Amino acid sequence: MAGNWKDGAQAALALSFDFDAETLWLSRDPSNAKRPGTLSQGVYGAKVGVPLILKFLRERKLKATFFIPGAVIERYPALCRQIVAEGHEVGHHGYLHEWIDPGDPQREVDIMEKGLAALREVLGIKPVGYRSPAWETSDNTLKLLVEHGFRYSTNFMDDLKPYRHTVDGQRLDLVELPVAWVLDDAPFTLFSVKSPSRPIFPASQILEVWKEEFQGIYEYGGLCMLTMHPQFTGRPSRIAMLGSFLDYVSRFPNVWIANAAEIADWWLANRED
Ligand code: ZN
Repeated sequence: MAGNWKDGAQAALALSFDFDAETLWLSRDPSNAKRPGTLSQGVYGAKVGVPLILKFLRERKLKATFFIPGAVIERYPALCRQIVAEGHEVGHHGYLHEWIDPGDPQREVDIMEKGLAALREVLGIKPVGYRSPAWETSDNTLKLLVEHGFRYSTNFMDDLKPYRHTVDGQRLDLVELPVAWVLDDAPFTLFSVKSPSRPIFPASQILEVWKEEFQGIYEYGGLCMLTMHPQFTGRPSRIAMLGSFLDYVSRFPNVWIANAAEIADWWLANRED
């Protein structure tokens, strides 16, 4: 089956990891700064999750995209440099994992610039991709991305394949790599004793959902953008699950597995939509 993707691929798959560490918990409640036990869930992502995921990606010879808040880059510079050194892409993910407030545009500008500064100063990177914390956006987000030379956004949930953004009737050289909560590990794994809370699922249930989604996206000829968090998917049961998922994907012919920047660049160069 020849598809419309690179070299006739039928569908594309991207692995993305939102390395939020402690900022995931601080952005939900700033008073968590005084709760080391709560924060330790985020610390796990840095101490164990990312190293295990990097090992997994090395063994599988896969390149992924890590979206990292500026404050996490400053707190874990050596680990973030290792992510880059191992050939993975790093994208913008806020500064303190702040949720964008559409009513406060200046705050959004400041967060954008602080995140860019950390990427530049610690990693020497000018990112091409942006993922907003918790996928919160405002009317200004896309314009800000264009101003700062981003080539892709991966925040919207309105398609199964990439598409170029249009703002004020003007088509932009900014491609969307659509996401979905169903392809995110957090809805299955983010547990807190405080509201909102939900039970923890066995990894096999996540695997089942992702396999079903992948099969449908493959038939559609779309992009399967997995969003994972080192503090959640960096647990042994879930890394094993990710391996099972990739084994399942490998049974489908003509799947292009690439990082987000490669997919965005290919789309901008080869597709009109
Ligand atoms: Zn995040």
